Amino acid sequence: MSQVLLASRNPKKLAEMQRILREHLPSVEVLGLDDVPAYDEPVEDKPTFEGNALLKARAALAHTELPSLADDSGLCVDALNGMPGVLSARWSGTPKSDERNNALLLAQLEDVPDERRGAHFTCAVAFCAPGHDELVVEGRMDGRIIRETRGTGGFGYDVVFVADDHPGPTTAELSVEDKDAISHRGRALRAIAPQVAALLR
Ligand code: IMP
Repeated sequence: MSQVLLASRNPKKLAEMQRILREHLPSVEVLGLDDVPAYDEPVEDKPTFEGNALLKARAALAHTELPSLADDSGLCVDALNGMPGVLSARWSGTPKSDERNNALLLAQLEDVPDERRGAHFTCAVAFCAPGHDELVVEGRMDGRIIRETRGTGGFGYDVVFVADDHPGPTTAELSVEDKDAISHRGRALRAIAPQVAALLR
């Protein structure tokens, strides 16, 4: 059985990615970073999702020699000129806290009227494998930021985000299947999975 490494330590994100990939790569074992010997992971200092995803996939391949996938994702809020963007995970500083990030975002948008609360998630997924060209794809989920937190599923900003494709519930209130079907990460992974499958054959 061939193996592919997903260069992530976020257990919720990893579960989401493994779930989507398993469907498209049934004969490939999908490993996480905890399944391989630890290595010095790169600092995500690029200004774009694509740049950071490539940085992580290249480092994973260099250290493990395994075909490696990595993602970088974040929330881009229209009223904040696209921020927090690549800074989404640490928007309210370190150590990273989803709860503090959401509280800060809601406070920053307090005076923003409903019609200007548009936002989208973006996810770049990069794939690096020995002897192959690098691949990068992007997926996007459009929606808006509500005024309170709702739901217990998902992670990150899901509790404050309502997707245009499922108006009503937040993405933290969707079933995992419903979120996978419309999410930025689902779209990016479904776009790259056939290309990864062809290269691993
Ligand atoms: P990364 O691990 O550098 O890609 O950081 C991504 C950050 O963006 C996460 O820590 C979340 O704050 C946010 N984010 C990315 N994807 C999602 C999602 O599907 N739901 C909610 N928040 C997300």
